[in-house]
Amino acid sequence: MSTTWHVLGAGSLGTLWATRLARAGLPVRLILRDTARLQAYEMAGGLTLVEHGEAQLYPVPAETPDGIEPINRLLVACKAYDAEKAVEQLAPRLSPGAELILLQNGLGSQDAVAAQVPQARCIYASSTEGAFRDSDWRVVFAGHGFTWLGDAGHPVAPIWLDDLSAAGIPHEWSTEILTRLWRKLALNCAINPLTVLHDCRNGGLLEHHCEVATLCGELTELLERCGQPAAAENLQQEVERVILATAANYSSMYQDVSNRRRTEISYLLGYACKASDRHQLNLPHLNQLQQRLIARLLSLGLPSD
Ligand code: NAP
Repeated sequence: MSTTWHVLGAGSLGTLWATRLARAGLPVRLILRDTARLQAYEMAGGLTLVEHGEAQLYPVPAETPDGIEPINRLLVACKAYDAEKAVEQLAPRLSPGAELILLQNGLGSQDAVAAQVPQARCIYASSTEGAFRDSDWRVVFAGHGFTWLGDAGHPVAPIWLDDLSAAGIPHEWSTEILTRLWRKLALNCAINPLTVLHDCRNGGLLEHHCEVATLCGELTELLERCGQPAAAENLQQEVERVILATAANYSSMYQDVSNRRRTEISYLLGYACKASDRHQLNLPHLNQLQQRLIARLLSLGLPSD
C-alpha cells in the first residue's frame, strides 16, 4: 500500500500536485484551513484542474488540520509566509521519520519549518511550473516546467520520487538544491521588484538596463559572500536572458500587487537584505530597492512584509 500524500494548502501548486497524484491512482488527502473551508470544498465536489483548455474534476478527499490520522508524507503548498504556522498545527500528527516537501519560493521559510519539526526530514523544492486559481478550487495549469528537489543535509534520494514519475510530474533530485534556491532568489530580486516599481512587464526592464546591471553586481557579491559562488556565476547574463525570454509576462510579484495580494517580499528581497546585513556587506542599491518597494506596498495599502 502506497504512503498517503497529505497536501497542505489547496491553492495553485497544491491543486496541481494533488490532482496529478490522484489521477495516477495514488492516495492523496487535502488538509484545508478549517471547517468552513472544508464545507465550501465539499460543496464544490472536488478540485478542478484546467489543462490545455479542458477542465477535469478530481474528488480528492479532504480534512481539517485537527484530523487524527498520522502523517508520513506532507506536501507543504502554502505561501512562504503561511508555511511555518500551517505546519506547526500539524506537528503532533507527524510520524517519526515523516517527510515534508516544501514548495515555497524564496528562502527562510524552509529553515523555519525544518527547525520546528526536528523529527521529520524536510525536502526543499524549486519549481518552474506555473499555475493560477481562476476561482476557488479551480486551477489552470499555465506553464509546464520542472521541479528540483533536494535535502542539503542528506543527499540520498527518497524512493517516492517514483510516485512523481507515475503522476507525470517532471522532476529531478538535486544535491545542490540550496544553489538552485539562491539562484532563483537572486533572479527574482533583480527582476520582480523593479517590475512593480516601474509598473511594467518583464520586458519593460530592457529600458532600465543600468539599474538591473548594478543590482546584479551587488547580488553577485552577496551570493559569493554567502558561500554560493555557483549561484553567482554569470548572474547578469542569465537575468538578461530571462528578461528577454519572458518579456511579455508580468512577474509573480507584479501579479500579486495588481491583484492586491500579499507578496512574498520577506522571503525574497527581504531575505537577501538580511543576509547582506549579517555579513556586514554594503549593498546600497539592494537596500534602496527594498525601501522603495516597501514604500510602494504601503502606499497601496498592502502588507510590507
Ligand atoms: P496559493 O494559490 O495562494 O495557495 C496557497 C494555499 O495555502 C491556499 O489555498 C491557502 O488556503 C492555503 N493555506 C494557507 N494557510 C493554510 C493553513 N493554515 N492550512 C491549510 N491551508 C492553508 O499559492 P501558490 O501560488 O500555490 O504558491 C504556493 C508556494 O509555491 C508559494 O511560495 C509560491 O511562491 C510557490 N510557487 C508558486 C507557483 C505558481 O505557479 N503558483 C510556481 C512556483 C512556486 P485558502 O485557499 O483557504 O486561502
